[in-house]
Amino acid sequence: MKTITENIQAIKNELPEQVTLVAVSKTKPIEAIVEAYEAGQRVFGENKVQEMVEKQEVLPHDIQWHMIGHLQRNKVKYIAPFVSLIHGVDSFRLLQEIDKQAKRNNRTIPCLLQIYIAEEETKFGLSQEELDEILNGEALQSLQNIQIVGLMGMATFTEDTDKIKREFTYLNNIYNQTKEKYVNLEQLNLQTLSMGMSNDYPIAIACGSTMVRIGSHIFGSRNY
Ligand SMILES: *Cc1c(COP(=O)(O)O)cnc(C)c1O
Repeated sequence: MKTITENIQAIKNELPEQVTLVAVSKTKPIEAIVEAYEAGQRVFGENKVQEMVEKQEVLPHDIQWHMIGHLQRNKVKYIAPFVSLIHGVDSFRLLQEIDKQAKRNNRTIPCLLQIYIAEEETKFGLSQEELDEILNGEALQSLQNIQIVGLMGMATFTEDTDKIKREFTYLNNIYNQTKEKYVNLEQLNLQTLSMGMSNDYPIAIACGSTMVRIGSHIFGSRNY
């Protein structure tokens, strides 16, 4: 078995320069994160609020913590002081709560809106229509402490690479259309397209991803 350091180096070597690696450390112990940190990794993704807070408290403070999981509104306050990017925003009410907590902490929190691209029914996310509703909504104009910096999506978990490619291409199209459509929207500054995980990130990159979220290919498989 390869070490965490070797895995990170191998992935970094194959990533194009413009693609950011988020090391998904959910369920993994502090020591594993320290090893990745010592290999030069600074961006880590977690999907549970409490776990992220506990890790953030004991690990070096130049780590950028990304919330990649489904976030409940009542838990935003715990991560608002330090979170560097929230990937899975899928409702206006959540955006409002993030804005409120960001204001309390005297900061702006960058967010990605999660778009539903898989044909599976279990995945969270907005349709393109719901995305437009949020971006066209007057209420968005009052949010001064969030920045929508990109979109995020998860493809169907399948061996069918054509299907994965279709889903990522679809998201890339929405991303480019949204960029063009809302050039004058103050709350929107699209520069990040977060798509691709351990099993599908090469396809995601070929389809325009600028940020990949990789867990098991770095840290090994998870035992829940
Ligand atoms: C767990 C998770 C990942 C990483 O998954 P791997 O298959 O281990 O790379 C990426 N994105 C999200 C949203 C996740 O929950």
